[in-house]
Formats: sequence, structure tokens, C-alpha cells
Amino acid sequence: MDPKSASNLSFILNKPNDVTFADRPVPTLADAHDVLVAVNYTGICGSDVHYWVHGAIGHYVVKEPMVLGHESSGTVVEVGSAVKTLKPGDRIALEPGYPCRRCGPCLSGKYNLCPEMRFAATPPYHGTLTGFWTAPADFCYKLPDAVSLQEGAMIEPLAVAVHIVRQAAVAPGQSVVVMGAGPVGLLCAAVARAFGASTVVSVDIVQSKLDFALSFCATHAYASQRVAAEENAANILREAGLPDGADAVIDASGAEPSIQTSLHVVRRGGTYVQGGMGRADITFPIMALCLKEVTAKGSFRYGSGDYKLAVELVAAGKVDVKRLVSGVVPFREAEDAFKKVKEGEVIKMLIAGPNEKI
Ligand SMILES: [Zn+2]
Ligand SMILES: [Zn+2]
Repeated sequence: MDPKSASNLSFILNKPNDVTFADRPVPTLADAHDVLVAVNYTGICGSDVHYWVHGAIGHYVVKEPMVLGHESSGTVVEVGSAVKTLKPGDRIALEPGYPCRRCGPCLSGKYNLCPEMRFAATPPYHGTLTGFWTAPADFCYKLPDAVSLQEGAMIEPLAVAVHIVRQAAVAPGQSVVVMGAGPVGLLCAAVARAFGASTVVSVDIVQSKLDFALSFCATHAYASQRVAAEENAANILREAGLPDGADAVIDASGAEPSIQTSLHVVRRGGTYVQGGMGRADITFPIMALCLKEVTAKGSFRYGSGDYKLAVELVAAGKVDVKRLVSGVVPFREAEDAFKKVKEGEVIKMLIAGPNEKI
């Protein structure tokens, strides 16, 4: 594709609930290690919808018009002079955050914690709902022939799940409870199965999501009740046949009652990982954490090796990300797709790039 004659139409958030399309200049390669990519598909994330509705997430505030989107696949159209691993025509999953590579966290291998991170569609940085995008070649992951470009757009949320399940150190034969059956919760459950967990319990408040989880990857599902966290936890463990508690509990909901339940579901000496983001401060059952000597960890985006493993899990048929795609819309219908995600009637919507024929 010739970027000079193609569209660089972009989907831009001006302010809360105010989006427009605008044709922006095609970016040029700024570094010999960069590649220029034509964006093929972009998934809509909960964070994109949150910016659209509220204009901010925590201290990230949209002050200038910002292009949305960060879950993309693309096709390489041009490579910088130092790029040896990619060539024009290669299909890739696009990792959308670029760390400084020089700070303490970067040099210790935890680049997701880089304070200088430039992450797509996190203000003040533009996102990937656009025609063309430049990225360092080592943040573009070549898709094997067996992985489609639509699956390629699902690598980003899958990498989030890979990072969470790695934080939980899930091992073969273990039991894992995942609170929340949205896209990331479902993918965590699938990755835990792929890592060899023999019991994987999906917990949510919406029965239809649990039905899907059971057909997708979970061995058990439980509809959370509006009862005390201890009681909810006891019911989950009884249903799943885990009298001693779960080896690992992942909260992929961010909801206070789920987090409280998590601490009562985890076994003595087990691991609890917080993946979901909800309210900044909650009431937390810290006594359970202490008495059971629980290992508690946070999880933020993804780091070394997570994208690569996500691609391999899809290529090997271990996580069928296609099943999470509820629909694919042309670029001009991006706002409708955002509405569908906001209304919660879909799992994952993909938006085709502006040069993509669907
Ligand atoms: Zn996302
Ligand atoms: Zn850094």
C-alpha cells in the first residue's frame, strides 16, 4: 500500500462524548529502528470507552483532542535502515506502549513500569485508530500464517492476561479462580488453562457471561451473590470442590466485593493478583491477607516476553481469541461500535482500519 495515496483518517476524541474523524498527516519514520505500519484492525478496550465517556482515567486527563485505540494489528509498509527483522508486507501485532529503555524499571526488565512510557491513547499520546502508525521494530510481533489479522488485534488484551497469569505464577495442576468474565477475565481463565491449571473457576454477576466462560475455557462458573464476602467465597469454593481454597485468585473486575471475596477464596499461602481497575480506594480484608500469608501482587499492562507468548498461544491453538470477537465494523462506524461496548452487549468489537475493505 502506498501511504501517499491512502487514507490516514483518524478517530479522535475531542472531549467527553464528542468524537470526530479527521485526516491527519501520515507519520514518517523518525528513527532507523522504526517501521511504518498500515493499521488493519483495532479492538475497543474498556479504557477507550472510559476516556470517551469521562475524558479521563485517574490522573490521565484528555486535555487536547486525542486519537483513540491501542489494540491493533497491522501490515508493515516501510522499514527504517537499521531494521533487520521485518520487511514490507509482514503482518504484525502492534505493541502500543514505548518505554524509555534507560530508567531503573526498564533496565531491570520491567519496562511496563517505565515512568516515561509513551502509551497509545493514554494522554497526551495519540492512539492507533488511524491509517498509519510508526513503532520501533522490536515492538511489532510478526504473525505466523496461522494467525489472522483479526486475531492479531486480540493479542493486546491476551498479553494483558498473560502478564496477570504470570504474576500469579500459575503451575500445572493448580486451581485458579478468576473474578470477572469480561474480555480480560475470560482471557486470564484461558491462559491459566493453557498454563496447565486443572481447575479454573470464572466468577461474575452476569449469568450469560458465565455460560460463555464455561463454553470457552472455565471448568466451573459461579454467579456471585449479594452476600458477605466470606459467604460468597465459601459458596464458590464448595461449588468448585476446593475445600482448602484456590492456589491463585485473579481479580479481573476491579469491583470492591470481588476483591474482598478474592482474599477469602485464596488458600493459605496462595497468591492473589489484582488485574482489574476500579475505584482507587476500597475496604480491603487485610487480616485475611496476613493470617493466610497470601502473596499479593499488582499487574499492569504487559512486559518482557508477554506479547511473544500471546502470539504463540494463539498460533498453537491454545487460546481461541476469535470466539471473543462479537463483530467487526468499518472505520466510519467506530462510534456505533463504542456505543455497543458501552452498553455491554458485546464481548469485543473490532474496527477495521480506514484502508481496510470489509
Ligand atoms: Zn486495552
Ligand atoms: Zn524507562
